[in-house]
This record gives sequence, structure tokens and C-alpha cells, in this order.
Amino acid sequence: MEFKNVTIAGSGVLGYQIAFQTAFHGYNVTVYDINDEVLEKAKAKFDGLSQAYKNDLKATQEQLDATFKRLAYNSDLAIAVKDADLVIEAVPENPQIKIDFYQKLSKAAPQKTIFATNSSTLLPSDFADATGRPEKFLALHFANEIWKHNTAEVMGHPGTDKKVFDSVVAFSKSIGMVALPLHKEQPGYIVNSLLVPLLTAATDLLVNEVADAETIDKTWMVATSAPIGPFAILDIVGITTAYNINKMAADATNDPLKIKTVEYLKKNFIDKNKLGVSTGEGFYKY
Ligand code: NAD
Repeated sequence: MEFKNVTIAGSGVLGYQIAFQTAFHGYNVTVYDINDEVLEKAKAKFDGLSQAYKNDLKATQEQLDATFKRLAYNSDLAIAVKDADLVIEAVPENPQIKIDFYQKLSKAAPQKTIFATNSSTLLPSDFADATGRPEKFLALHFANEIWKHNTAEVMGHPGTDKKVFDSVVAFSKSIGMVALPLHKEQPGYIVNSLLVPLLTAATDLLVNEVADAETIDKTWMVATSAPIGPFAILDIVGITTAYNINKMAADATNDPLKIKTVEYLKKNFIDKNKLGVSTGEGFYKY
């Protein structure tokens, strides 16, 4: 299975990055979103992204001009997926929005089209039925700043065809990703299965007043040769995400330490708009 035409559904934080990376590597890309106004915003963001490709990847102006020529935009789903070999879905992380989208997509897309979800927390088996073609459906999970953090976790559900899985692994390599195949469904894939417990343990140590953030980071860095520690990672991920994860855990368990963590993050970071690198300050100043 060789792909030529790829449609990206959803042009938000991740969608527009996936679209640009895919076009940069020679595919014809159509960007789909709910209306033309949102698509205009996505177009505007591509200029900023070009600068990052110049700085970080040493991309030439010719490469970037060719990338722009391979990008098309459409807010009519039937037209956007008419020739698609692959649709990568990056619509909001909301099960009902995704199910509605797949029900419409299953009717609009040709039989040959493979569907991949970029969902971070939902499993492909949650949507396999809604796609109408479970054997041609799987997860292809990218990380924010895809051109630098070039992981592509590929995860099927029990009904995914092996040939489809392999073709998506090959595709992800062809757009400059490090392909990371998973053998079974796993909430959080590999990266977040490793990272979330580390970040949770770090905030538990801090809120339990075992040590301060700098000491916890230093411990991790010196002991494992990691370049940065868990609190510096939290500043990159965004403290809002840490707050949301702890809030869900606190609401579900009523665990006093989780409740204390939520209050701590709210008082010291969320209420002060110290959300990490994006706002210039979190556990560290930037
Ligand atoms: P986002 O909110 O920035 O963007 C979502 C986009 O989808 C918006 O442009 C919105 O207009 C569009 N949209 C809404 N309803 C739609 C519909 N019915 N059809 C088509 N488009 C629709 O979200 P995001 O952060 O880019 O996340 C998208 C997906 O990628 C989620 O599943 C998320 O879990 C996953 N993801 C996000 C990150 C991240 O760091 N933000 C990382 C990895 C994976």
C-alpha cells in the first residue's frame, strides 16, 4: 500500500503540524476543518512553522515553497477526502465529536482510504465501529513540535489489518518520524505510560514536602544522565495538563494527596498564569 494523497482532519495545534510535515516530505496534503475561517487561521500559522523548519531543520526556501504548493484546503468533507489514501484525524479530544466525525467520514471517503487517529487518551477500539471499516483503522500518535519531537506511535485495535498497520509504519518513517509500533492497545501509548507516572511521582514528592523541585530534578538528572528533570518537563508539557490529570485523579479517588496537589498547582501556578514555558514561567523562568 503506497500513499500519495493524505488528508488531515482538524487544523488545530497538532493537525497543522502533521499537515506541514507530511507535505514537506512530498505528499499531496489536503487540510480539512469545520469552516473556511478556521482554515484561513491554519494557513496563517504555516508561515511561523516555515521559520521553525528553517531554524531547526535547515530547510531551504525551495523545499518550503514546494511544501506550500502541495498543501490544499477544503471545508467540504466529501471533496477533502475524495482521493485520500490516508486520513489522519486530529479533531478535538472529545469522544462524541470523534464518533460524529467518523460516521460522516465513513460515508464520504472512498473504500480504499485508511483512517488514523492522533488521539492522545482514547483508544482506537472506542471508534472502530463508527469508522465502518475497522480493518483499515488504527492510531498514529504524534507529539507536539512534530518536526523536532519526531515520535510516531502506531497502535492498532484487535481488528486492524496487519498490512494496514505495516503501511502506516512505513508512511510514518517516510515523513521523517521514528516509527514506534505497539503490539497491543495501551492507554497513553508508550511515551505517556512512562512519563505520566514519573511526573506524578515528582509532584507527589514536592507536595508531600520531601524535597524542592530543583533537588528532585537534580536527583533525576545526576542519577540517570537525563538532560532535564521532571519539573522542567512539566514546564514544557504545560502545568495546565498536570493540573487536569491530577484533578481527574482527585475527583475519582478523593485521595488527600491528589486533592492537596490540585490545590497547590492552582494556587501557585494556574491562578498566577505561571503555566510553564508558554507563559515564560512555571517551575523555572524562561
Ligand atoms: P485543537 O483543539 O487545537 O484542534 C482541533 C481542531 O479540530 C480545530 O481546528 C477544530 O476547529 C477542529 N474541529 C473541531 N470539530 C471538528 C470536526 N467535526 N471535524 C473536523 N475538524 C474539527 O486540538 P489538538 O491539540 O490539535 O488535538 C487534536 C487531537 O490530537 C486530539 O485527539 C489530541 O488528543 C491529539 N494530540 C494533541 C497533542 C497536543 O500536544 N496538543 C499531542 C498529541 C496528540
